Amino acid sequence: MPTTLRSLALSGCAALALAACATPTTAPDVEADTGATPPSVDYAQLLDDVRILSADDMEGRGTGTPGGEKARAYVVSRLEALGVAPASFGRLQPFEMTGRSPDGPVSFRGANVLGLIPGTRVGDRYIVVTAHYDHVGSREGQIYNGADDNASGVATLLELARRLKVQAPEHSVLFVAFDGEERGLLGAREFVKAPPVPLSSIALNLNFDMTSRAETDGHLWVTGTYQHPNLRPILETVPASGAISFAFGKDTPEDKGEDNWVDSSDHGVFHAMGLPFIYMGVDYHPDYHRPSDDFERITPTAFQGATELAIAGFHALDRSLDR
Ligand SMILES: [Zn+2]
Repeated sequence: MPTTLRSLALSGCAALALAACATPTTAPDVEADTGATPPSVDYAQLLDDVRILSADDMEGRGTGTPGGEKARAYVVSRLEALGVAPASFGRLQPFEMTGRSPDGPVSFRGANVLGLIPGTRVGDRYIVVTAHYDHVGSREGQIYNGADDNASGVATLLELARRLKVQAPEHSVLFVAFDGEERGLLGAREFVKAPPVPLSSIALNLNFDMTSRAETDGHLWVTGTYQHPNLRPILETVPASGAISFAFGKDTPEDKGEDNWVDSSDHGVFHAMGLPFIYMGVDYHPDYHRPSDDFERITPTAFQGATELAIAGFHALDRSLDR
């Protein structure tokens, strides 16, 4: 597995570079909402994470498959390399649950991957940052690599974690890479059933699902401000990142069917529990849920722009909530 080995080597280098950068003269600026490129970005790692998670040897990251286990081990290794602590009950949250499959309901074994970074201002309140690492696996001999869906969101989550290790957040941040999303939001259901922190201490679920193909319409969509209108002015202050800007919607009663994203990914489970949520993701594109959702289809500048927006959005919410 040369790709995985290479990535681990890069992770180590990134950690070393970070340590070297943490001097007074080159203090990293992690406030990404200026529209400028922060000096602490690690776009090589961001792209590497997507490339590795969407490589053929991950076999489409199907829940309960060897490829899914391999993807899980990779996410664990990245959090470990970043020095992100596990959750109170550990790094993994295993589950066995009935989910949907092309052949009807099937029992799936999966596991969420968790990490925790304590907050400085309101450490007893949590922003739960989520992204599912599973995809649909292989069908009829074709691997569905799921680069945008959702290797990209996991990579965005990991880049946020890297920066929050440099400059701690105000809220405690629980990172959860969910398994079983494609089988019916299984990992998210397990999380709210047996949460590592009281549900009442969760200030927000911020869910990244498909963050890399924003070049389609120039937007990273924000869903959830119809349900939580107080969050919209906070995110409206975040300027565009290059050619990519926030668009708000896909969450009103007028948004029907597949254009209503309120329950379209793991944030739907948080919403069902009455917890505040914000979902960030790009619009549908021709490779959505096709074997062609490959790393090579990603435009790096659009992905980087969307990741900067997502991270700037996180900071804006982190600063504003629980005042
Ligand atoms: Zn997805």
